Amino acid sequence: MYEYVGNIHFHTTASDGTATMEEAIAAAERAGLDFIILTDHNVYVPGLDGWHGKVLLLVGEEVHDPAAERPGNHYLVFDAEEEMSQFASDPQTLIDEVRLRGGFGFLAHPFERAAERFGEHEIPWRDWQVTGYAGLSIWNYMSEFKAHLTSLPAALRAAYFPQCVIRGPFPEILAKWDELLQTRHTPAIGTSDAHGITYKFGLLRRQLFPYEYLFRTVNYHALSEEPFSGELDHDKRIVYGAMRGGHGFIAYDLLGDARGFRVTAKAGDQEVGIGGTVSLTSDVLFEISSPIKARLRVILNGEMVDWAYTTRMRHRTRLGGVYRIEAQRLIGLRWRNWVYTNPIYVE
Ligand SMILES: [Zn+2]
Ligand SMILES: [Zn+2]
Repeated sequence: MYEYVGNIHFHTTASDGTATMEEAIAAAERAGLDFIILTDHNVYVPGLDGWHGKVLLLVGEEVHDPAAERPGNHYLVFDAEEEMSQFASDPQTLIDEVRLRGGFGFLAHPFERAAERFGEHEIPWRDWQVTGYAGLSIWNYMSEFKAHLTSLPAALRAAYFPQCVIRGPFPEILAKWDELLQTRHTPAIGTSDAHGITYKFGLLRRQLFPYEYLFRTVNYHALSEEPFSGELDHDKRIVYGAMRGGHGFIAYDLLGDARGFRVTAKAGDQEVGIGGTVSLTSDVLFEISSPIKARLRVILNGEMVDWAYTTRMRHRTRLGGVYRIEAQRLIGLRWRNWVYTNPIYVE
C-alpha cells in the first residue's frame, strides 16, 4: 500500500482566503504534504491543478447558495472539472449535476456549533433528504474552532492555544455518520477549511490560522495500491479514488505523524484494507497497526466493542456490520483524538 497525505478544503484569494495559490502551495510543501485540494467558494479555478514541486494540487470547489434564507448546505465538489455554482440553489440538483459530469462531493461541515459573538454563524448541512453525495467531512478544523468562540476568554484560549481546545469530530457528526453507514457506504474525509483570516479580539489581532499550521492538523491519508507516477491524471485518480472509495483515514497529525496507520480484515482467503468489504464466511480477523502507541478502539455499528493501548492489535469476530477504528493518544494525561479510519464492511 502507498500512502499519500493531503489537506482537503482550503480557500485562497480567489474567494475569501488570504493566501495566493503560490503561498498555499509553499505552505503545503513546508508542512510535508503530498497533495492539497483547493475548494474556493463558488468559483472553479481551472488550469492550476498539477504537480508544483513536491506537492500535487487538485482543484475542487465549495458550492453554496449565497441567497439561501438560512445559510448552510456547503458542498465540496471534486472532479467535476467545471463551474458548478449555478446549481447552488437546489442541493439535490447540484449533487446530481456533479455526478453527471463524473464528479463527486462531500458535505463540507454537516453540523456546526457557532457562537455568534465574533461574527460567526452556524452553516450546517440542512437538507438531509438528499441522496447521491459521496460522503461527509466528519472533522472540519475551522468549524470546531468556531465552536469555541463563546466568550472572550474562551476565544483567546482557542486562538492562542488551539492545541488545548481542539478535540475531534462533533459527537453528532459521528452519530450521523454511523447512522448513514447502516444503510449505505458513506466515506468520510477530514478537512481544514483554511482561510488564514485575521480575527480581532478587542485590541488583539490574530491570524487564525496560518495555512502551514492548518496543513499540519486535520489531514486525509489516502491509501492506494499504486504509487503516484508524476502524471496529473493518473495521480488525481489515486487521490480521488481513495476519497470516493473510503480508502483512507483522517488524522490529526499535530499529535503525531500517523503515516503507517493500517487496518486489515482477513476471512478465509479474503484480505481487505480500509474501505474494503469482506463476506462473513468464517471468523474475521482484524489487524490494526499504529506507528505510535495509541488507544485503538474498534467501533462496530457505532458502538465500541474492543480496545487496547498498543501499537498492534487483533480483533476476531463472527459479527457482520460496519467496523471502523478510532485511535487516541495519551498526551498531558488526557486522551486526545488522533485517527479515524473509514470503515471495513463485513457482510
Ligand atoms: Zn463552508
Ligand atoms: Zn470552506
